[in-house]
Amino acid sequence: MKKIAILGSTGSIGTQTLDVARANGDLEVLGLSAGSNVEKLEKQVREFNPRLVAVWDERAAADLAVRIADTDTRVVSGMEGLLELARMPETEILVTAIVGMIGIRPTMEAIRAGKDIALANKETLVTAGHLIMPMAEKYGVQILPVDSEHSAIFQAIHGERKDEIHKLLITASGGPFRGKKREELTKVTLADTLKHPNWVMGQKITVDSATLVNKGLEVMEARWLFGLDLDHIEVVVQPKSIIHSMVEFKDGAVMAQLGTPDMRLPIQYALYYPHRRYLDGERLDFSKLKQITFEEPDMDTFLGLPMAMEASRKGGSMPTVFNAANELAVRKFLQEKIGFLDIYEIIGQSMGRHTVIDKPGLEEILAVEEETYQWIESRW
Ligand code: NDP
Repeated sequence: MKKIAILGSTGSIGTQTLDVARANGDLEVLGLSAGSNVEKLEKQVREFNPRLVAVWDERAAADLAVRIADTDTRVVSGMEGLLELARMPETEILVTAIVGMIGIRPTMEAIRAGKDIALANKETLVTAGHLIMPMAEKYGVQILPVDSEHSAIFQAIHGERKDEIHKLLITASGGPFRGKKREELTKVTLADTLKHPNWVMGQKITVDSATLVNKGLEVMEARWLFGLDLDHIEVVVQPKSIIHSMVEFKDGAVMAQLGTPDMRLPIQYALYYPHRRYLDGERLDFSKLKQITFEEPDMDTFLGLPMAMEASRKGGSMPTVFNAANELAVRKFLQEKIGFLDIYEIIGQSMGRHTVIDKPGLEEILAVEEETYQWIESRW
C-alpha cells in the first residue's frame, strides 16, 4: 500500500485523487485537509478512515471534531495543522491540491520531511520555485506534476535526456472567450467566465483559464519543473484540449501526449510513476475526432499570458506580485465586486509599482504577498 496525504481533499483535484484511490484500492489515505468544507470532509473521513484531518478554519475544525468524535481520526487546524499534515511520519506522497500561495509552507514542510510531492498547486512553484526545486534536490524528493500540461511533458520526456530537449510546447484551450476582442470582454459576466469549454475545475483556475493567467502560471511552473528558460517554452492554442502538451527535441522530433480531458490520468500517473494503471473512462476515438486544430494565443486581448512572461523575465519577487494580485483580483471577481478586465488592471498596476527583490526568501515572499494584498485592498 502506498501511503498518501492530500492538501485540499474537498476540491476538484482532491476529490479526483480520492476517486483514483477508490478505484485502485492500494493507496492508503492517511491525511486529508480542507479550508472549511466539513460536510464533505466528514464523508471522506468515514470512507477513507485517515489518521489526521487538517482544517484551516478553527471553527470548522471544532465542528468536524464533534461530527467525527466516534472515529479514530484526529482533527487539527490552522497553518500548524497543515504543517503537521504535510510532515506526517508515515506518508510517502503529499498531493498538493490546495489553491493559492497558502500551499508554499506545507509543501516545503513535506519536502523537508522527505515526502515526494504530487504537485497540482502551481502557485507554489510560481512564487517559490527558486526555493522549492533546490530543496527537493537536497532532500532527494521527487516533484511529480499533476497539472495536465506538465504531466504530458513529463510523460513525453520519460527515458529521454534533458539536455536534448529543445522546446516545450504548452497547449491551451484558449478558454471560454477565445476569439473575442477586448471590447467584447467589457461585458462578460461571472457566469460566462465559469463556463470552461473542456474542463470542470475549481472556480479560481476556471477564471484563470479565461484570462490566460493560468497559461502564464503554467509557463512559469514549467520553467521550474523542467529547467528551461522562457525562450524555450511556447504556448500553442489547441481548442479541444486533446493534445495536453508537446516536447520538441534537438533533432526536430516532437513528442506529444494525447487523451480525453480527464484529470484522473495525470493524478494517477503522478501517484504510480513510473508505472501506468488501468483507468476507467472515455478513450479518444480518432474516427470521431477527425481533426486537431491549432492557433496562436491572442496576447493583445488576453493579457494574463504576456503579463506572466514579463513577471517571469523580471524574476525575483515579481512572480509573487503577479500571482498575489491575481489571487485577490479573482476573489473580488468571484464576489462580483469587479469586472473581468479589472483583473488585468489590478495585476498590471500591482506589478508596475513593485521594486523587484532578487532571490527572495520565504519570509520576503510572504511579506510581498501581504503588501500586495494591502495595496490592492486600499484601492479596489
Ligand atoms: P478547488 O477550489 O476545487 O479546491 C481547493 C481545495 O483547497 C479545497 O479542498 C479547499 O477546501 C482547499 N483550501 C482552500 N483554502 C484552504 C486553506 N486556507 N487551507 C486548507 N485548505 C484550503 O481547486 P482545484 O482543485 O481546482 O485546484 C487546486 C490546485 O490545483 C490549484 O492550484 C489549481 O491551479 C491546480 N490545478 C487544478 C486543476 C483542475 O482540474 N481543477 C488542473 C490543474 C491544476 P474547501 O473545500 O474547504 O474550500
